[in-house]
Amino acid sequence: MTPKVARYLSDHQPATPCLVLDVDRVEQNFRALREALPLARVYYAVKANPAPQILERLAGLGSSFDAASAEEIASCLAAGADPAEISFGNTIKKVSAIRMAHERGVDLFAFDSDEELEKIAAHAPGARVYCRILVENTGADWPLSRKFGTTLDHARDLMIRAGRLGLDAYGLSFHVGSQQTDTASYEAAIGRVAMLFTDLKQAGVNLRMANLGGGFPTSYRDEVPGIDSFGAAIMGAMARHFGNALPEILVEPGRYLVADAGVVSAEVVLVSRRGNDPVRWVYLDIGRFGGLAETEGESIKYRMRTEHDGSEAGPVAIAGPTCDGADICYEKSNYRLPIALRSGDRIELLSTGAYVTTYASQRFNGFAPLAEHYI
Ligand SMILES: *Cc1c(COP(=O)(O)O)cnc(C)c1O
Repeated sequence: MTPKVARYLSDHQPATPCLVLDVDRVEQNFRALREALPLARVYYAVKANPAPQILERLAGLGSSFDAASAEEIASCLAAGADPAEISFGNTIKKVSAIRMAHERGVDLFAFDSDEELEKIAAHAPGARVYCRILVENTGADWPLSRKFGTTLDHARDLMIRAGRLGLDAYGLSFHVGSQQTDTASYEAAIGRVAMLFTDLKQAGVNLRMANLGGGFPTSYRDEVPGIDSFGAAIMGAMARHFGNALPEILVEPGRYLVADAGVVSAEVVLVSRRGNDPVRWVYLDIGRFGGLAETEGESIKYRMRTEHDGSEAGPVAIAGPTCDGADICYEKSNYRLPIALRSGDRIELLSTGAYVTTYASQRFNGFAPLAEHYI
């Protein structure tokens, strides 16, 4: 928790549940990433947290943006982004969204299928396109592999076809999976990209860009390697595979830029114990449907802080306040919380600035959306 967030929480005691996010920390993370990867252009993955305060700060710092919908493109433009600095990175786009993007001056589109390529050629003629390839997502706590990307052979055919359709066959992309803790996964993926660059060159198609996606991790319950290790591994692999003919390099961080800038302040609604089961059930005023969607499969394990920390702790299951049996955050991950914890206590969930505010249901059980404070 940054000192600014701690001060805000103690001075204002805002109603819970709410997210308090320190926009200065986003800026620090952006600068750290740029230092770790000075040759890469940073395209912030807007879906991680689309708050205007974040988009405006990043636009002011010269960030580019990875948008997934017409709505996200509109938010970037409203925040002052240059349309030439927006990538339409979703491989699944409505025709109306492609048209809107093209009309507003967006010129860079992702795809991974024949039909999507045809849609782009028809509705954003002449645009720069890049094909997303399949890569291993091993080491990622939140994998993205099955739904997106295609094989190297298919990508090769698609990039040749892109030129024939009047598009600018610009580059390749991948995503190693979100909260990727293993630097080697970037190295392996870069090797695949380089192979296809070589193949396509022989076929007369000169690609100019490698988009390394997002995935850079933040520290939740477990510590992760720092951004410098990822920078070093990536630049090492780029140099090994491309020599001094480096293509333009893009990265699309989401989680890394915003996660540790935010804290969710919540309230304990109930602590219950079933018979003499040693595991207490702790129900919070936020759960799976209030924004903690990434606790699905207990994938993302948030660190928690209470005013009783340091006193004796015992095993707990942690769940949300709704009347849905799926609204359980942690049952198998061996969480422990202080024995003294009671209904009415505040509890802080750390590093919740990414994939929380927009990942909530729409008033399920009547609960209002998560309040947001950007400071
Ligand atoms: C979600 C997403 C990102 C951001 O991923 P993080 O793991 O949050 O860094 C980047 N690129 C694309 C195409 C995405 O879908």
